[in-house]
Amino acid sequence: MKLKNKIHSLSTLMMLILLILSNLGIYFTFDRTQHKTEYSQLLGSAKELTVALSKMTDEEEAEIILRAYVPPNGALRIVGKNGNEVLSVQSMEGLDRNFPVPDKSEQYTLVPYNGYEALSIAIPTIWPTGEVVQLEVTQVLTDLKANLRLLKMVMIGITLFAMIPIIISSITLGRIVTQPIEKLIQAMTDSRRSGTFQQIVVPEKGKDELTQMGQTFNELMVQLEQNYRKQEKFVSDASHELKTPITVIDSYARLLERRGMDKPEIALEALAAIRNETKRMTEMIEQMLDLARNNEPASYIFEETDIRVIVDDAAQMITSAYGRAVQIKGLDQLILSTDGTHLKQLLIILLDNARKYSDREIDVEMEERNEYVRISIQDYGKGIPEKDIPYLFDRFYRVDEDRNRKTGGTGLGLAIANEIAIGLGAKLDIESKEDEGTKITIWLLNASVSQ
Ligand code: ADP
Repeated sequence: MKLKNKIHSLSTLMMLILLILSNLGIYFTFDRTQHKTEYSQLLGSAKELTVALSKMTDEEEAEIILRAYVPPNGALRIVGKNGNEVLSVQSMEGLDRNFPVPDKSEQYTLVPYNGYEALSIAIPTIWPTGEVVQLEVTQVLTDLKANLRLLKMVMIGITLFAMIPIIISSITLGRIVTQPIEKLIQAMTDSRRSGTFQQIVVPEKGKDELTQMGQTFNELMVQLEQNYRKQEKFVSDASHELKTPITVIDSYARLLERRGMDKPEIALEALAAIRNETKRMTEMIEQMLDLARNNEPASYIFEETDIRVIVDDAAQMITSAYGRAVQIKGLDQLILSTDGTHLKQLLIILLDNARKYSDREIDVEMEERNEYVRISIQDYGKGIPEKDIPYLFDRFYRVDEDRNRKTGGTGLGLAIANEIAIGLGAKLDIESKEDEGTKITIWLLNASVSQ
């Protein structure tokens, strides 16, 4: 069954049940109170009659009084001590022959009588002879039956009439809920068929969940498209970047083939170039894999980590691998919740760049500032031209191919660094002045910084 029909039939059924239950409640409350009212009225007039009878001395006079008090559509009778009927009067044909005898243990007795209900009560009274007798009064509730039938008809009419707006509102509700879902399904089907990222039209100012769902869907589509384009660009950039070393390898291999056999110096040069390019390709492939790995949020494990220890380790690696001095200033210990392994990888990328693009010492400074922890890596090298700074996080972006040829590099380092920073919930700031140096700052966010 379609969601629209489910909502429609369920809400209609629920409303119908609710209406029937409330109508039944009203009906039975009315029925009960009406019986009570009839009973009170009958008891009231019976009591008046007993008072009148108690003043009588003549049986004939008592009979006249009884006639005056006989209820409409009812009957009265006096029953003696031994159960014999002393007197009986009636205003409805046949009641004397078939008198509904009241049950003395109950307040009143209801028995069916000719398609109606007969309400009977019994109270003791004093008969003019001085004997204590039983006054039994009964009344056939013809009016009550008619009233209840009328009430039933009115309620059925109201229920049927109320079903019209209920059905209309449930259809409207079904439409309100399912229309955006249908739009989503349509957009998804179209996107799947055409291989595009289609969005749906959503009211700009709407605040309900359905509008939010539409907006989230559109945001998701934008993100999917961006990721798809990024990936597409990455694949084309990567294949382009890999083409260069392959071409170099190929041309040196040909050179080796043609002239390398006779001239050992050419063979050595070709082999060195081939090895160099192979090394570059391996490095590039490893970095590409790194980039893919660092993109996965699940690979980040946050735990209490001493940042100073991580910075010391990364600096130590650069010093022992390249013999470059790294000075660390600032806090001796700083514990915060982060992923130490990824942070170390990020520091190594930045320290390695500082090493590659400068000759002097490298300064690392750590500082706690409000809810942030700042780690700055400062070098005093060639610096980066201002126009290049916005593109440094782009994959394969290199400032100057000529200048980078000597240092090697793939243009992936800072892209990886940026991905790691995002994974750590951190931000990277780059300040640089040509021929003066570069300072890259990691802003680590941690609300519960403790020293
Ligand atoms: P690469 O592998 O080429 O170093 P990166 O993504 O790490 O790639 O850096 C991109 C470019 O930014 C580099 O080619 C380099 O020109 C420039 N760069 C990065 N760090 C520094 C630095 N500390 N000093 C000067 N230039 C830098």
